[in-house]
Amino acid sequence: MSSVFLSLGSNMGDRRANLKEALERLDQLPQTQLLAVSSLYQTPAWGLTEQADFLNLACRLETILAPLDLLRACQSIENDLGRVRQQHWGPRTLDIDILLYDQKVLDQPDLTLPHPYMKER
Ligand code: ATP
Ligand code: CA
Ligand code: CA
Repeated sequence: MSSVFLSLGSNMGDRRANLKEALERLDQLPQTQLLAVSSLYQTPAWGLTEQADFLNLACRLETILAPLDLLRACQSIENDLGRVRQQHWGPRTLDIDILLYDQKVLDQPDLTLPHPYMKER
């Protein structure tokens, strides 16, 4: 099993419900357990500052999914929650970033570990 830290954020719709749904789906991934969830914190949006604030949390998982498989699983959860959003314009219902995956250091086009987030925010 690998130990993984994720960052989840939502700034559209029922932000709390989106995060809860995402956590449930993460826990249901194959051979994956959700072990810990941080408290919620509200942060201003980056870039387009007229967007609503984000509601964020971090969580810890144990999983046998390889880093890229986990990334794809996270993206499919984003898309599933995003379909509700597509009728609307603008901000995202859900963002899932992989902050840490064990001690792994990766610099691939589609996956950087640790996430640059770790340094900047
Ligand atoms: P930021 O990375 O600044 O938080 P973002 O989350 O808004 O930006 P997205 O559009 O959600 O950016 O993701 C862009 C791409 O980032 C994804 O397609 C994914 O391949 C890539 N990516 C690279 N490293 C990671 C990582 N550690 N976790 C999640 N996505 C990553
Ligand atoms: Ca992000
Ligand atoms: Ca992201």
